[in-house]
Amino acid sequence: MIYYLGLGANLGEREKNLRRAIELIKKIPAVELKRVSSFYETEPWGVEGQPNYLNAAIKISTEREPLALLDELQRIELELGRIRREHWGARTIDIDILYGAEISHERLTVPHKFLFERDFALIPLAEIFPTLEYNLRGDKVVKVHGSPIDFKFKLVACVDKNLGLGNGGKLLFRIPADLKNFRALTLNHTIIFGRRTLETFPNQQPLDGRRNILFSRTQKKISGAEIVGSVEELFSVLDAAEENFVIGGAEIFNELIPYATEIILTVVDAEVDADAFFPNFLDEFTLRGVKNFGGFDFRRYTR
Ligand code: ATP
Ligand code: MG
Ligand code: MG
Repeated sequence: MIYYLGLGANLGEREKNLRRAIELIKKIPAVELKRVSSFYETEPWGVEGQPNYLNAAIKISTEREPLALLDELQRIELELGRIRREHWGARTIDIDILYGAEISHERLTVPHKFLFERDFALIPLAEIFPTLEYNLRGDKVVKVHGSPIDFKFKLVACVDKNLGLGNGGKLLFRIPADLKNFRALTLNHTIIFGRRTLETFPNQQPLDGRRNILFSRTQKKISGAEIVGSVEELFSVLDAAEENFVIGGAEIFNELIPYATEIILTVVDAEVDADAFFPNFLDEFTLRGVKNFGGFDFRRYTR
């Protein structure tokens, strides 16, 4: 089942609260994070005289029953320090189920009963749910600079027919024409990669002529590359005007695909033993172009 969740925070470090909530939602068993909206600054709704909110929406896919999902979301609210004083009062985090399979239960109403009266919920939701039909009331909802969706955030990989990426820490393919294309694509731009991908580079060194960002929770320092330890930190150092290419490996693709705007694949016409795979993405992305080179294709997908 697909569910759309609305997140809001107006106490503490609001952006950090939203990002931590997203990280924790991703860790709920049998929940897969599919997409994250921009973050929006909004005015309080229902009870005035409280600080402005930061709101966002996310899309998840899950096998969990809706009430079990609600339990998990409420546990995360508590974990992030939510204290319920007054209804609609200020809070460190609120996580509501906005949309998904209809349900009417004393603990849970989906679609959320005020969704269509709330611009602060509709605007982020519409961004990740383009077919939603709605009318806005004209409330003040302002996109915050540096939201994920503002970035050109592209995933680039070379795979076999089964989306295999690598085996035993090594890439499956090294095709000269593909490597040349990769260089042309990424040169003078930003590349983002994990530690194991760094080990596949020539001399295990950052690649020349590009801004190198190593995504690692453990690595401390390396010459020629910046290191970021979380999604939050990554988006705080990225340049919104830049082209940002996530280049692997499997774990990094998995972690960052909810933020991707585009996928660029070299698909080799072969089936090879692999132990690392590119994440499944065909339910979220549409093929926009194919170029065949005899033996392999370049394919471009967007949302
Ligand atoms: P609102 O629901 O108007 O946005 P709120 O989010 O501040 O207000 P909470 O204190 O977070 O309200 O939740 C109150 C109760 O709402 C929860 O205990 C929950 O059982 C119930 N509830 C009903 N429908 C939903 C839903 N779609 N998503 C989350 N909670 C819901
Ligand atoms: Mg709410
Ligand atoms: Mg709530």
